[in-house]
Amino acid sequence: MNKKVIKQYLEYLELTGIRDIFFEHKPNFSIDPKEVKSQKLKNLENTYKSCNKCELSKSRNKFCYGNGNPNAKLMLIGEGPGADEDRTGKVFVGRAGQLLTRMLKAIDLQRDDVYITNIVKCRPPNNRNPLQKEKESCIPYLEEQISIIQPKLILLLGKVAAISLLNKNNPLKKFRKTTHKYKNIKTYVSYHPAALLRNPKWKKFAWVDLQKIQIDYNNLS
Ligand code: SF4
Repeated sequence: MNKKVIKQYLEYLELTGIRDIFFEHKPNFSIDPKEVKSQKLKNLENTYKSCNKCELSKSRNKFCYGNGNPNAKLMLIGEGPGADEDRTGKVFVGRAGQLLTRMLKAIDLQRDDVYITNIVKCRPPNNRNPLQKEKESCIPYLEEQISIIQPKLILLLGKVAAISLLNKNNPLKKFRKTTHKYKNIKTYVSYHPAALLRNPKWKKFAWVDLQKIQIDYNNLS
């Protein structure tokens, strides 16, 4: 039973003049863990939406916290919002986001199955790479998201995300060769969909990565 239903029922009792409630059996007022996670994420998004910890706050239109399933087993992390994201406040909604949606679909996942966010929550001007101090300011927000969602798998989209979280300055090819651990969570690295739009010949390599992720995802309990 969710909190809204309980509140409505109590209001109804009050309106109809009932002051006492008797239960024949112990009521089951357990709260859905998915709702708890969702509420925690919403609260944090509201807390941070006016963040001005770094220079990116000066040029952003909208803070882009992240979207998707708060109970996701797979979390996708990109680099930073682009122009469409900055306009809407949602992550991966532009052309790259649409390609990402199709890539997920190819391994039988919907956007609602996963949670998607970025290393920095505000758009770097002209889509430049986020600076080290901007990433350091913003990564604590990402760490909080991960600790709330507790994904079983992470997919880092692109070299910037991989370098930022795995603390190694490898080429993407080397990052992709193996899986990694981030916060003790099995972590994959693959191409950022924006890079695939610029270099469609890399899509066949991204497909190889996706198939490995699909096998792991389907083996999760
Ligand atoms: S990028 Fe992150 S740290 Fe910088 S202003 Fe935006 S939310 Fe704050």
